[in-house]
Amino acid sequence: MRELCRLARRGYETPLKRETFGFVYGTLTQERRIIVRRVCYYRGGTKTRTGVVFKDWPTIRRVIIRRRELARSMRLRFLGNFHSHVEIAGEVFRGLSGDDRDSFVFDRMAVIEVIVFIWPGDGRIAGRSSRTIVGFEPATGYNYRIRVYAKRRGSLFHVTARVLPSGVVIVF
Ligand SMILES: [Zn+2]
Repeated sequence: MRELCRLARRGYETPLKRETFGFVYGTLTQERRIIVRRVCYYRGGTKTRTGVVFKDWPTIRRVIIRRRELARSMRLRFLGNFHSHVEIAGEVFRGLSGDDRDSFVFDRMAVIEVIVFIWPGDGRIAGRSSRTIVGFEPATGYNYRIRVYAKRRGSLFHVTARVLPSGVVIVF
C-alpha cells in the first residue's frame, strides 16, 4: 500500500508526470477474497500520462516472463497490474481509460486492475466512497485514491478495497 503510493509519487514527480506501472501479487482466500500483499514496479513499456503501452509481442512476452519469475520468487500469485493516474493541469482522470479497459480485458491472467490516483492537495478529498481507499500524506502534500477493478464474465467492475493495519489490501 505504501509502496503503491511511493511509486505513484515517483511517476508524478518526473518532469513529464508519467504513470507508474507494475504488478500486483498476493493470494486468493477460500471465501473468494483477494489479498494484495506485494506490488512490484516494472520498468518496461511506454509510459504516458494516461496509460502504459506494450507495443509488440516480444515486449509482451518479456512482461509475462517477468511476472512469472516474480511470482515464483515471492511464492505469491500474480493478481494483475497496477498503474497510476496523475494530476495534470489541476485534473486527474478518474476512471479507466479505453486502453486501460482493453488491456485488462485481454490480459487473461489478471483478475484485478489497481489504479492509484495522485494529486497535490490538503486531505479534503471529495467524493469519498466506501469502496475506495483514500489517503493524504502530510509529509509530501499529496492526496491518493486507490481503486480496484475486477473482471466478471467479461465485464469490469469497480470493487471494494480495504487496507488492513499491516498494509495488506483486501478486495471483496
Ligand atoms: Zn490508465
